[in-house]
Amino acid sequence: MLSQPVFRFAPSPNGYLHLGHAYSALLNQKRARESGGRFLLRIEDIDLERARPEFEQAIYDDLEWLGVSWERPVRRQSEHIADYAAALNKLKEMELLFACDCTRASLTQFASSHENWPRDPDNSPLYSGACLTKMNSVSLLIEQNNGFALRLNMSQALKRLERQLYWREYSLGNIAADPSSWGDVILSRKSTPASYHIAVVVDDALQGVTDVVRGRDLYAATSVHRLLQHLLGLPAPNYHHHELIYDAVGAKLSKSQKSISLRALRAEGMSAQAVKKHLGF
Ligand code: GLU
Repeated sequence: MLSQPVFRFAPSPNGYLHLGHAYSALLNQKRARESGGRFLLRIEDIDLERARPEFEQAIYDDLEWLGVSWERPVRRQSEHIADYAAALNKLKEMELLFACDCTRASLTQFASSHENWPRDPDNSPLYSGACLTKMNSVSLLIEQNNGFALRLNMSQALKRLERQLYWREYSLGNIAADPSSWGDVILSRKSTPASYHIAVVVDDALQGVTDVVRGRDLYAATSVHRLLQHLLGLPAPNYHHHELIYDAVGAKLSKSQKSISLRALRAEGMSAQAVKKHLGF
């Protein structure tokens, strides 16, 4: 018997939900319903400096207003730090992590003093490699507690692959993962016990997620997720990176750009029905 598909919507409570989130949540719910699958809500509050309780409550309120319903209990990442620590520990034992105390300013300075220094898909300069040989892995977790970040040693990680990695993308088929384009990605920071990348792959596996439906802005990050899944021995879900919703002036909607939030639309008198219709549901 085929197992039941599992979908999830995984917002970060760092701001109010906007139309792009509404589209993602509604599409997840629609796909789950069409396939007789389950639909989970996950609160990605791992960035302890940015997550705020009022934004989490607003997620529940806005989704309810929109008519989205999800299974309880909700997984909140801040309650599962030990799961991410276990995954980091596994990578540490594989000698694939190194501790790094470079500041963002020093890395920007390094990149600007090297002509055409490569950039990652998010347009940040690739890591300089400054700490790559400085620390040994034995002291890693102690270092982490002392304010160091942990990075993945990308070249060592790639050496462990016996074959090209692919992920399955909705309507496009197999996509070749290109994790090297991200360099030595950060997997935990001083202020954040686990990065988005490590938390998302651990949670998708622990929750049995079979289908990840999320915005196109996370398409390139899937290469890192695929690599981490492989290294940690986790199953790879199917992916569907949907179009991004643009506001009237054509800017990509995001919380940092102070896009119109669902609650602002509601305050202006827009109905949930009108929002759904606008988004094509
Ligand atoms: N928490 C992420 C965000 O709000 C989404 C993560 C995901 O869907 O993989 O952008």
